[in-house]
Amino acid sequence: MRKFGIVLALLVVLIALLVGCSGSREQDIETILASELLRSQGIEINEPERPYYRFSAREDFDIEVALHVLGEHGSYYFTPGGWTDELIGDLVAVSEDGLRFAKDFLGIEVSHPLSFVFNVTEPTDDHPMPMWGGGGVFGTSAYISMEARLLPSLIVHEAVHAILRYDERQSNFPMPPETALMGHAMFLEEGLCDLIDFLFAAQTEHPYRTNYGNNHLHIEASRTLNRRNNFADEAEFGTRYPELMSYETAASFVYFLLEHHGTIGDFMRVFDDIYLMEEVYGVSMYDMIAKWMAYLEQF
Ligand SMILES: [Zn+2]
Repeated sequence: MRKFGIVLALLVVLIALLVGCSGSREQDIETILASELLRSQGIEINEPERPYYRFSAREDFDIEVALHVLGEHGSYYFTPGGWTDELIGDLVAVSEDGLRFAKDFLGIEVSHPLSFVFNVTEPTDDHPMPMWGGGGVFGTSAYISMEARLLPSLIVHEAVHAILRYDERQSNFPMPPETALMGHAMFLEEGLCDLIDFLFAAQTEHPYRTNYGNNHLHIEASRTLNRRNNFADEAEFGTRYPELMSYETAASFVYFLLEHHGTIGDFMRVFDDIYLMEEVYGVSMYDMIAKWMAYLEQF
C-alpha cells in the first residue's frame, strides 16, 4: 500500500467517552475522523461519537487509547492527542519492519501481533502511566512515551524485550547490586535489545534514531569503559562481570560474540544460562571479557 511497504490489515477501533473532554481532545477526534490516511486505507471507524477506550496489558498498565491500527507483526495503539496521519503512518511502517527484523534476528516465531502503545503527549501528574521520554514492556506489550520529534526510536529495543517475554526467555546473567542506581537492570538482555535496535537502524530505509547517534557500538562501549574507570566501583557494578553493567558495553560484548564467536543460536544458549559460556564458546566468561576489552582497544 501507498505509505507502507507492506500489506497491512488496518483496523480502527474508536470507543469510549467524549463527555467532559478538553479542547485538545475534540481537536484530536476531529483530526482522527478527518484522517486521509484512514480513508485511503479503507479503515472503518466504529462509534465515532465514543472515540476513546482503555487498553490494559496488566493490572499496572491500564491506559486510554484513541486509535488502533492492526498490522501483520504488531497491533498499534495510539493514546489521545498529538497525532498526524504522517506520524501514525511512519510509526506503523517502521514498527512493522522493525518487529519482523527482531523476530528474524532472534529466530523466534510469534503467533500473534505484539501490542505497541505509543504516546506523544506529556502525562499530567495524576496520569496512571507517568513515563515520559522512554519506553518499557508490560507483559508482552510495549509502551513508548516521548515527544513526537524524537520518534521513531526504541521500537526495536522494546520489541526484543517483548519477543523474549513472549518466548519466556529470562537470562540468569547477574544484576548489579540491589542498592545500585541500576540495581534491577538485566544488562545482558538490555545489550541484546540495544544491539538489534542498532543493527536495524543501520539497515532500514526508514528514519530511525538510536542512542548511539552516528557512532559505532564499539566506540561508545570503549568510551563508556573509560568514563566509568572500567566499572571498578563495586558498590555500583558488583564483582561479577562489572564491565558489562551498562547498555553500551553489554551491547558491544554481544555484538563481539556474534561477529567473531558463533551464531545467534549459540548466544541464546548462553543468554539462557550464562554458565554454558565455556561449553558453547570454549572460553570462560572472564577470558571472553578480556578478549573483548583487548578487541575494543582498536576503537
Ligand atoms: Zn530495555
